[in-house]
Amino acid sequence: RAKEAGRNGFEFYTEDMNTSSLGRLLLEHQLRGAAERGELLLHYQPKVSAADGRLGGFEALLRWQHPELGMVAPGQFIPLAEESGLIVPIGQWVLEETCRQQRAWLDAGFDVPPLAVNLSAHQLAQPDIVATVAAAIECHRLAPGLIELELTETMLMRDVDRTIRTLVRLREMGVRLAIDDFGTGYSSLNYLRQFPVNALKIDRSFVSDIGSDGAEGKIAAAIVGMAHSLGLDAVAEGVESEAQRAFLQMHGCHQLQGFLIARPAPAREIERFLSRRA
Ligand code: C2E
Ligand code: MG
Ligand code: MG
Ligand code: MG
Repeated sequence: RAKEAGRNGFEFYTEDMNTSSLGRLLLEHQLRGAAERGELLLHYQPKVSAADGRLGGFEALLRWQHPELGMVAPGQFIPLAEESGLIVPIGQWVLEETCRQQRAWLDAGFDVPPLAVNLSAHQLAQPDIVATVAAAIECHRLAPGLIELELTETMLMRDVDRTIRTLVRLREMGVRLAIDDFGTGYSSLNYLRQFPVNALKIDRSFVSDIGSDGAEGKIAAAIVGMAHSLGLDAVAEGVESEAQRAFLQMHGCHQLQGFLIARPAPAREIERFLSRRA
C-alpha cells in the first residue's frame, strides 16, 4: 500500500509539485531526511566591490540534490520547510556547513572574505539563536566578522522589539548583519534606524528596473542614497548587465552580486576562483 501511494505520489508531484497537496506532503517527507542522507549542499556566489571589482564576500545558497528530481532550487522547498518548521534543523545544517567550509578554506590558506548565510524567520525567532550562532562560530574557531547573516525586511518587522534585542546581541558578538531583498517589505524607516545592521541588499526587482523605460532604476538609486545616509553598505543583488553595473557604480553602490559577476557555484569552483585571485 505504501509502495502504491509512493508511486502515485511521485506522478503527482512531477505533474505539479507545488499545487498538489500529496506532492507537497511527499516532498516534505523526503526533505525531512535530506540532510542526514547528504542530499543538501551549498553553492556560493561572490559579491564584489562596485568601485574596483575586489572580492567582498560570498553568499551561501542552499541546494537540494534530490535522488529523482535532480537539483531542486530553494524557491521550491524553502517555503515548504518554513511551513513545516523543518527550516530550523535545515538552517542549523546550513550554518554549521558554512562555518565548516569557511574554516576549511582558511586552513587551506585562502584569504577568505565574509560568508553570508540566509536565516529564516523561524530560525531568528528561536530563543537560542544567538547561542546557536555563537556555538557554530566557536566550534570552527572563526572570527565572528567572517560570518554574515542575511535577514529579510519582512521577518525583521514581525516582532520588532524582540528582533532588535536579538540583532544587538548578534552584532555585539561581531557577526555581520544584512537586510535581504530590501525594498520589498514594509519596514518603517524609523525602525530601520534602530536595526543594528551593516548592509542593505537591494532587491533584484529594483536592479532589473535599471535601464528599463518606466522606473529607470530610481528605486535602486534611492536605496543606495538611504544606505549612505544611514551609514550602511548598499549591495545590489541580481546584477545581470553592464548597464546595471555602470549605473550602480555611478550612484555609489558599494557591492555587486549577480550573474554578470558570477553565478552561484559549488565549493570546488569557488576554490579555483580564490586560487586565481591569490
Ligand atoms: P536571496 O537570499 O535573495 O538569494 C539571491 C537569489 O538570487 C539566489 O537564488 C541567487 O541564485 C539568485 N541570483 C543571484 N544573482 C542573480 C542574477 O543575476 N539573476 C537572477 N535572475 N538571479 C540571481 P536561489 O539560490 O534560488 O535562492 C532563492 C532564495 O532562497 C534566496 O533568495 C533565499 O531567500 C532563499 N535561500 C537560499 N538559501 C537559503 C538558506 O540556506 N536558508 C534560507 N532560510 N533561505 C535560503
Ligand atoms: Mg540572501
Ligand atoms: Mg536577496
Ligand atoms: Mg531575493
